[in-house]
Amino acid sequence: VLGIYVHFPYCRKHCPYCDFAVHARKEIPHQRYADAVARELAEAAPSYSGRTVGTLYFGGGTPSLWTAVGSVIDRVRREFPCDFREVTLEADPLDLVPERLTHWRALGIDRLSIGAQTFDETALVRIGRLHRPADVVQGVRAARNAGFANLSIDLMFGLPGQNLAMLDRDLDQLLQLSAEHVSLYGLTLEERTPFFRLHQAGQLAVPSSDEQADFFERICARLRGAGYEHYEISNFARPGYRAVHNRLYWTFGEVLGLGASAHSHRRVGEVSERFSNVRSVDDYFAHLGRESLHASPRASYEQRGPEECARDALWLGLRQLDGIERAAFRARFGRDPAEGEAVEKLVRLGLVEVTEERLRMTDKGVLLGDEVALTFV
Ligand code: SF4
Repeated sequence: VLGIYVHFPYCRKHCPYCDFAVHARKEIPHQRYADAVARELAEAAPSYSGRTVGTLYFGGGTPSLWTAVGSVIDRVRREFPCDFREVTLEADPLDLVPERLTHWRALGIDRLSIGAQTFDETALVRIGRLHRPADVVQGVRAARNAGFANLSIDLMFGLPGQNLAMLDRDLDQLLQLSAEHVSLYGLTLEERTPFFRLHQAGQLAVPSSDEQADFFERICARLRGAGYEHYEISNFARPGYRAVHNRLYWTFGEVLGLGASAHSHRRVGEVSERFSNVRSVDDYFAHLGRESLHASPRASYEQRGPEECARDALWLGLRQLDGIERAAFRARFGRDPAEGEAVEKLVRLGLVEVTEERLRMTDKGVLLGDEVALTFV
């Protein structure tokens, strides 16, 4: 099963903590961008022949702004056999209005990933978001009325000035919405962002890494207590609602990424290909505007051999709290995932445990999840 990811690189404004390749433009070239994505899709489809598309994910940027999203879905249906198990659109709460929601449902979109971030109005202003907490509450209600039965909510933590009491209030409000899925994002200060520069200049205080760890523990405890399964380091779901598309990344599945800065993964026999597109949307248009037969907008291409594939599958698989099934891994990669220096070191540190059937992170490992992953990279 193939997953298709489509990146939409436009936003209403550029948030001061975000280092994604996004453009805040008054005039978004909706159809021109859709045409470019359609052309990239047509060019890429033959190299993925024989696959059935099982998931479609519109990410960004702010794809809920995109008026031409339907033409891309049509094009996917024309290029590939499709048996959609999940079609997700990332949505700004400001876009959750009845007409758009009904339109998305009619297009076959069945899951929304809503960028709530926090329910603290002051914190929302401080991080430069344009929506307000009431927009999330109204938007979720409107999405339910339009028939969306699968909603995911993004929650940020570690925000400037945040303390545990504020986080608890955020969680109270989040839980009242009864979303099927929750994704967590700890605020990180990325170089080249205004937040990074303000922090360097001593004008922006953010919680320490110890406080961040406390926040993460509190979130895990409260979401688990409310019946959510903590199934991946940063993701929680009601039973039956684990993200299908994202699981492809953690299980080393195939994904075709379309649009500026999108990443792809394709298997060719024993090896695996990873490639990414140019970051800038202007470069993307320039590549796909050419009249050549090969208008590939690739910025990078890498072939990974069997041992590298096994290593990738290991650290990606460990992100899931169920871990890795040893027999399935052995069948796929020809070796036991519990072997090797990196895993032995993690076991010694008490971050990973090995049972007869599985390899998985311990509770301590989950708290230090990104460091566990880095051991393999
Ligand atoms: S809306 Fe999201 S993608 Fe767009 S600038 Fe803000 S954080 Fe980045």
